[in-house]
Amino acid sequence: MKMAFLSMFMALFLGRAISGQTLKPPVSPDYGLLLHPGEAGHNEAEVAASMEKAKSARINTIVLLVKDSAGLYYSSKLFPGAIAQEYKNFDLLKTVLTEAHKRGMRVQAWLADFVEGKNGWAYTSHPEWAELNPDGQTTLSEIGASGKSYQDVWMCPARRPGYVDQYLLPIIKEIVSTYPVDGLLEGFARYPGDLNPDGYCFCDYCLAHVFEHGHLVYDSEPHLAPLLRSLPRIDADLAREYTPKPALWNEWSRREKAKFLLHGRYENDSSSDMSYFFYTYRTDVVTNFMQEAHEIVNAARPECTISAAVFKNPIAGGRFLGQKWSDWTGSVDEFMPMTFRNQFNGSWSTFLQEFAEYTRYQKRWAANRKLNQSISVPSLYQDMIDPIHRMAAASDQWLAAGAGAGGTLRSDILRWSQVTLDQLPESPRKTEFKTAVQNLPEQIDSEIARAKLIEVRHVGDKLLSNPPAGFFPPSRLLEVIHIARESGADGIMLYGATMLETANLWASVKEGFNEKNEGQPVTASAPAR
Ligand SMILES: [Zn+2]
Repeated sequence: MKMAFLSMFMALFLGRAISGQTLKPPVSPDYGLLLHPGEAGHNEAEVAASMEKAKSARINTIVLLVKDSAGLYYSSKLFPGAIAQEYKNFDLLKTVLTEAHKRGMRVQAWLADFVEGKNGWAYTSHPEWAELNPDGQTTLSEIGASGKSYQDVWMCPARRPGYVDQYLLPIIKEIVSTYPVDGLLEGFARYPGDLNPDGYCFCDYCLAHVFEHGHLVYDSEPHLAPLLRSLPRIDADLAREYTPKPALWNEWSRREKAKFLLHGRYENDSSSDMSYFFYTYRTDVVTNFMQEAHEIVNAARPECTISAAVFKNPIAGGRFLGQKWSDWTGSVDEFMPMTFRNQFNGSWSTFLQEFAEYTRYQKRWAANRKLNQSISVPSLYQDMIDPIHRMAAASDQWLAAGAGAGGTLRSDILRWSQVTLDQLPESPRKTEFKTAVQNLPEQIDSEIARAKLIEVRHVGDKLLSNPPAGFFPPSRLLEVIHIARESGADGIMLYGATMLETANLWASVKEGFNEKNEGQPVTASAPAR
C-alpha cells in the first residue's frame, strides 16, 4: 500500500515536472470483466441488465468477445458471411457499447486472433491460409488436451496474402472505424503451442520465407552455396559468406525441411541451432502482427487502446507459442497475462505465493505498459470443480458400460465424492449428496440401481450449477485480487461471468474492487509512447 502510494506520488510529481501543466486526476485501476456473447445478452434488455450488474460490482471496463472460431459477433459489412448465425440480425457490439457507455464503462472489443472453425467462412473460403505441420496437415489432425480430435483450425500468421492481411487486419480496421470502442483486446496472438509446440508452421509460404526473414540467404546471390567446411570459430562476420540453406532445399520434402529447421545445424560444427532461427521467425511474425494492428488502430482511432491477453511467461511463450510479449511494448498499451490457477501446480497457498511472484516479474516484462492481471474465476475453484467432473466422468463410463462394469469406476466415484464431501460446508445439500453416495449400488443390474447411479451424478451436477453457500469460498477471489494489487498490477480483469452468477460472487467482486473508480472519461487516452 505504502509502495503504491509512493509510486502514485512519484507519477504525479514527474507528470507535473515534465508537463508543467495542470495535473490530470489520478488514473483509477481498470476493473474489467470479459464476456462471451451469451454472457453479455441476447437482446437489448438482457444486455442492459448484464451491464447494470457489472456496473453495480464496480466494473469499469467491459471486454466483449467479437470474433472467435465460431465467427463474428458484430454486423460486419466486409465479411457478412462470417457473422455467427444468431447475430445476423442483432448487433451485439453496438448494443453493448450503448449500454456500457451509458453507465460510464469503457468497452474493449476482444478478438481470438488466429483460430477459425472448420466450418467457418475464413477456412472454408481459404483453406490455403491454414497453418500446416510437417505432414502437411492442419490442426484438425491434432488430438486436444481432452483426448478428442481438435476442432479448430489455426491460420498462418505469416502468409501474405493470407489470413492476416486479407481478413484479420481488415476486421480490426472495420471495428475501430465504425464502432466507438475504447480498446481492442488481442487474444490467441500466438502459435498453437499448447497443442503441438514444434508442429507449426511449415506451410509453403513459411518454408519459402524462413531463411529470408533472418537474411540467411542473399537476394543478390540466390545461388550462394552452403558452407562445406567448418568455421575456425562461430562469428557473425564469417557467417556472411555462405548460407545455412541446404543446396537441394527445393527438392526436399516438407518433412525433411521441417526436420532441418527443428534439428539442423547452422554450420557443420555448431550445436543443433537451426531451431533458434525457426523460433525467432515465429516470434517475429507474431510481433509484426501486433505492430501492424497497432498502426491500423492508431491511424483510424488514436484514442483506442490495444491490450493483449498473453500466457504468463513471455520467455517460455517465445519458445513454445511464438508469443514473446516482452517484445510488444512498442505496440501494446496493456498486457493481460492469463496467470490462472490452472497454470500452477501445488496447493492454494503455494499458488498465492507463485501468483505474487509472477505478477512482479510480469510487471518488469511489461516495462512501461500497463499490467492488468487477469483472473479466471472458475479456475480459482478447480479444487472443488475437478472432483465433481471426475465423478461425473466415471459415472458416465459406468452407465455406458452397463451391468458387469463397476469395480474401479465405482471406487473412482467413491474416492472423488469423498473429496467433495470433505469440502462441502454442513448443510441440507451436503446431507443430500452424502445420502446419494451412500446409496450407490454395487452393480447396475436393475433399473432401480441405474436410477441410483444417475442420482449421484445429478446431485453432483447440482453442486456446480447451484452451489450451496460457502462451497466456493469468496475469500479465494478476494485473496487473489488483493495479492495482484499488492504485487504491482495496475488493474484486474476477470474471466468467467457465468461462474460469478452461479456461485453468487458479485458482492465479492464489488468488495474486491473497492477503490474509487468513478469520474473516468468514457474514452480513455492511450498512454504516451
Ligand atoms: Zn505458414
